[in-house]
Amino acid sequence: MDLIELTRTLIRFETVNPPGEEEDCARFLGRMLEAGGFHVSYHALAPGRISVVAHSPVPGGDQGATVFSGHLDTVPFGSAAWRHAPTAAHMADGKIFGRGASDMKSGVAAMVLAALAEGARAPVTLILSAGEETGCEGARSLAAQGRLQGPVRALVIGEPTANQPLIGHKGALWLEMEARGRAAHGSQPELGDNAICKAIEAVQRLLAFRLEAYSHPLLGSPTINVGTIQGGNNINSVPDRAVVGLDIRTVPGIGHETLRAALQDHCGDGVRLRILADMEGFASDVEDPWIQNIFRLVRPFVDQTPEPRGAAYFTDAAALTAAYGNPPTVILGPGEPSQAHQTDEYVYTRRVRDALAIYRSMLQSG
Ligand SMILES: [Zn+2]
Repeated sequence: MDLIELTRTLIRFETVNPPGEEEDCARFLGRMLEAGGFHVSYHALAPGRISVVAHSPVPGGDQGATVFSGHLDTVPFGSAAWRHAPTAAHMADGKIFGRGASDMKSGVAAMVLAALAEGARAPVTLILSAGEETGCEGARSLAAQGRLQGPVRALVIGEPTANQPLIGHKGALWLEMEARGRAAHGSQPELGDNAICKAIEAVQRLLAFRLEAYSHPLLGSPTINVGTIQGGNNINSVPDRAVVGLDIRTVPGIGHETLRAALQDHCGDGVRLRILADMEGFASDVEDPWIQNIFRLVRPFVDQTPEPRGAAYFTDAAALTAAYGNPPTVILGPGEPSQAHQTDEYVYTRRVRDALAIYRSMLQSG
């Protein structure tokens, strides 16, 4: 199938997450890969939600296969009106429009066609995951079930980078901060112990924590965002409970439990910090020969000479890189980074074709 037509076909499968419903799209791609001689297995995440793992007919040997990873789900369409229906895959001005055009059905299409074109000669594994957008559930479940078999030569994540290579990304540590107090009538606050006030004090202490001390050469400093706050039942009572949601973006080298314990110490006994979600970051060695080769082979296709850079957001690499024993990993895909999750999302057809050429040369150069 033609690359641009495949991208459009994938956009027409509605895989908005939640709820996801990746199964039809997953089975469609699985059938294509089976017809191309790949060994395909399907892994259910939930009813109607399936991830695909496909191995090329050539065994990986000691060096291992190159793993291409892409997600099949998309974020919701959003509340703003679209110029063209988000699943119409409308084409104009050298672009394909639609939800997932950049993030990341174009990347999936290019990876699948590169694997089909080269898979008879080069060992390649495709991981097409469900449930990435809500916390990499599909990839994490594949890792937890031991479905990821090595050895692996390298890992490629097809998220939108306009075909620029990113060689690392931050991790995410989501914490719940709970403050407990004692209820009292709002007219006699001195008789209570105000949980909201305790939470505010703890948040202020937390924001003064010196995260810069953990700065990473590729990824910079960790960050903290106070994302949610809940507390109190009514205005005329002293609240006895408050809960704050914290989104901490970490860098490799900090153990997440160690960081949680350090933050707990720093906040004091008035609150309790509990881990809600834990996604590891990664940083590939820029001197690794496979990484150096990627920088060389993308140069003719990109607007700016690639430099070692990383991403602040996390990807399925959070689950896959560690499960595969930390092979060299790159994030590289044809989508425009600025288009991810936007209304009227689009991808340039030129970049999709370039991505296919880049992925094929990755496989040819082993
Ligand atoms: Zn994505």
